[in-house]
Amino acid sequence: MDAAEFRRRGKEMVDYIADYLEQIEKRQVYPDVEPGYLRPLIPDSAPEEPERFEDILQDVERVIMPGVTHWHSPYFFAYFPTASSFPALLADMLSGGIGCIGFSWASSPACTELETVMLDWLGKMINLPPQFLAGKDGEGGGVIQESFSQATLVALLAARTKAIHRVQREKRELTQGEIIGRLVAYTSDQAHFSVEKAGLIAGVKIKEVPTDDKFAVRGSALRKILDQDKAAGLIPFFFCATLGTTTCCSFDKLPELGPMCNAENIWMHIDAAYAGSSFICPEFRHLLNGVEFADSFNFNPHKWLLVNFDCSTMWVKKRTDLTCAFKIDPVYLKHDHQESGLITDYRHWQIPLGRRFRSLKMWFVFRMYGVKGLQEYIRKHVKLAHEFKDLVLQDDRFEICADVVLGLVCFRLKGTNELNEALLKSINNARKIHLVPCRLKGKFVLRFSICARTAESAHVQFAWKHIVMLASELLKAQKQQQ
Ligand SMILES: *Cc1c(COP(=O)(O)O)cnc(C)c1O
Repeated sequence: MDAAEFRRRGKEMVDYIADYLEQIEKRQVYPDVEPGYLRPLIPDSAPEEPERFEDILQDVERVIMPGVTHWHSPYFFAYFPTASSFPALLADMLSGGIGCIGFSWASSPACTELETVMLDWLGKMINLPPQFLAGKDGEGGGVIQESFSQATLVALLAARTKAIHRVQREKRELTQGEIIGRLVAYTSDQAHFSVEKAGLIAGVKIKEVPTDDKFAVRGSALRKILDQDKAAGLIPFFFCATLGTTTCCSFDKLPELGPMCNAENIWMHIDAAYAGSSFICPEFRHLLNGVEFADSFNFNPHKWLLVNFDCSTMWVKKRTDLTCAFKIDPVYLKHDHQESGLITDYRHWQIPLGRRFRSLKMWFVFRMYGVKGLQEYIRKHVKLAHEFKDLVLQDDRFEICADVVLGLVCFRLKGTNELNEALLKSINNARKIHLVPCRLKGKFVLRFSICARTAESAHVQFAWKHIVMLASELLKAQKQQQ
């Protein structure tokens, strides 16, 4: 393919994507295929001779689309949203076109500097304390990680290094291995599983702190477990708080937990993967109160801020916590600039060496929507979630299982877990809408999450009518059986 053909095909591809997104409602939100469906549809090995673009594009409809779960369908209410907007798609194309690898400042100065400035912009949009911003010569700053999971691993490993150095100064008799064996990290019993996974990779114990009746970690619960562990000779060093849990969007009590972590030399990391985007609205910013006590903070604009995957933004108060933990400088990567403010080598902030020019997506989205446009978008989703909650509350066969704070509604039929499992199964088998469940204190619960950029009241109303119809059928069948 030469540039002339690329011009032509590029325009065709844009048309294909625009058609796909514009007409996505007509596609069945969840595919019918069985595992292994794809292999028989394409040859066993790569073609020896070049093929034509038309044929490839035709195969997208034949091979790929039948096996796609359409995350941007307005009938998709599963998991949490994943962002999609046209400005981000275009920026992604440009990022691919430039195709630089921004591991150091010198490897592509624009890639590094735009990222630092975008993280400052976004930090200001959610009113982060100034210590988290890079500014001209700040000690803090932000970085785009590929996912929350990776940001958590980076935070945990940096905290581990910091704790080892501190304990080595205080207790010279302990070897590094002995210290690591005593380190213990904490997170909520509602936390995302990636926190536990980070613990497995880092080789440190992770303990779950029990949550209260609102599924939140309270200061008293952490205090109790800290005291027990310290008495047993363990060394607490890390706490991952969650703002907006995946299960039910509950919020740990940062103002209680933060001062305790600071007093105990515990690195506090905050996971606001989903909820973080809502903090751009003044009416939701209170949910972030207590962030001033954190060492690192992370959320995913690729979930709810219209910046397509991947874009997981992470801020630290002291960038040297990361750069000292991960710094290895082979001679072929050295250059003549000193690290400060806008000048940094992002390879020291992450696990891989290579990194894409992801901040272009933020820049395009923030400028094309404006803060106001993004706030409106968040508010619309929250409003739709409340509309759904009100529908559930009007039917006394159902119950709401957790406070509806943002765009997620946890609900279930009053009755057994089996009944609710059967309801979810019939919803997903009908393929009209797609939901996933969660478990809250032993109860099987359905999650209704407002996801699509194009979701409207009509889709929510349709979904509820459909759920009610299936539930009624199920209850009727159940009565007949008895
Ligand atoms: C989605 C989610 C994650 C995982 O984020 P990734 O970027 O996919 O790793 C972690 N925590 C919470 C609360 C989430 O909602």
